[in-house]
Amino acid sequence: MEYKCEYLIVGGGLAGCSLGYLLRKSGADVLILERLDAKKKDKLCAGLTGTAGQKEFISIFGEPAWNSLDFFSYSVLREQLGGKEICRTGKLFGINRKVMDDAALQCYLDSGGRLIDHATVRTIDTDEGKARCINFQKKQEFDVYFSKIIGADGARSTVRRLLTGKVPDCAFAVESDVPFCGDKGILSYLSHSIGYCWYLPRGKDATVGCGYYHYDNKNIASICIEEMKDFCLQMGITPTGKVRGAFLPSGLDVLLRFGSSAYFVGDAAGLIKNTSGEGIVYALLSARLLAEALSGGTPYEEAMAPYTEAIIKKAKDAKKIQFLKCFKILAKGTPAR
Ligand SMILES: Cc1cc2nc3c(=O)[nH]c(=O)nc-3n(C[C@H](O)[C@H](O)[C@H](O)COP(=O)(O)OP(=O)(O)OC[C@H]3O[C@@H](n4cnc5c(N)ncnc54)[C@H](O)[C@@H]3O)c2cc1C
Repeated sequence: MEYKCEYLIVGGGLAGCSLGYLLRKSGADVLILERLDAKKKDKLCAGLTGTAGQKEFISIFGEPAWNSLDFFSYSVLREQLGGKEICRTGKLFGINRKVMDDAALQCYLDSGGRLIDHATVRTIDTDEGKARCINFQKKQEFDVYFSKIIGADGARSTVRRLLTGKVPDCAFAVESDVPFCGDKGILSYLSHSIGYCWYLPRGKDATVGCGYYHYDNKNIASICIEEMKDFCLQMGITPTGKVRGAFLPSGLDVLLRFGSSAYFVGDAAGLIKNTSGEGIVYALLSARLLAEALSGGTPYEEAMAPYTEAIIKKAKDAKKIQFLKCFKILAKGTPAR
């Protein structure tokens, strides 16, 4: 069996569906492969985003789509380190991530985008423009002939591994639901290591979790769980949900393009704000800027340059940033209210 398409997008998450939708709107022929059941998948994500994330979502899907999302607005994020605290104020949103991803998928499907779920790529030949793929459910192999292939398959991107021979550099995060106990978000930086714990309200409930950046530590999942438990103890809260874990990009190895016919967006490109784990805004932004580039606009790498440079710098300076943050807090920190 074989398929033909102009754009083969691997990964039907937020970045993949946003890109697919924009390409479909410009009249392109798009096929998305999604490893899981596209409608049932439930991305692990605390759901924190700011006005930049809101703006990107609206610019792709429109204001009514944003208003239909299940989100909780709040205005204070307490950032803590070593007993000191500053408050980030501004408009913040606690998004129900499943609702957001479902909305993006539905827009893509409504625009006539093709989707094969329970499927992934096995081999990729960019010279021939051919990917050997597998449908797990049907246990069937098939070929897809494409003009361009886009890796939108998350932090552990298979497309990246197949094309570059390297697994992307990743951090790890765990998360659980907790009862809503306060409408201020908390981001508590670990003073002894690179990472942070969070409490983020989402209205009806909230999430707690820990992101940890000891890249080569084999016990990373259990360390994350212990850090999260300590944080819960300090906060006096008890997780109610299952503890789930997932990789997120480290920010250290951003890759936007491979050769002349392969591109990466979102986590697969390694785009993350590594001091808070915020990637929603980059998933949307990279999808929009790549869609514009593919339709003849500013070349993707050029359009992304200000963001990628900032991400790479932050990732490289992670230790220094934690130290500077501490210093900044001591020097002119806004007292917590
Ligand atoms: C615990 C945790 C908490 C987070 N909290 C926040 C937060 O509060 N705010 C924020 O902005 N960001 C947060 N993030 C990061 C954010 O979730 C990601 O940056 C964002 O989801 C990236 O979107 P994406 O579409 O690139 O990747 P994903 O959402 O991971 O989508 C990738 C898609 O590709 C599919 N896929 C994977 N491999 C394959 C394959 N081989 N073949 C086919 N399909 C495949 C997956 O099933 C998935 O549907 C968090 C991440 C984690 C892990």
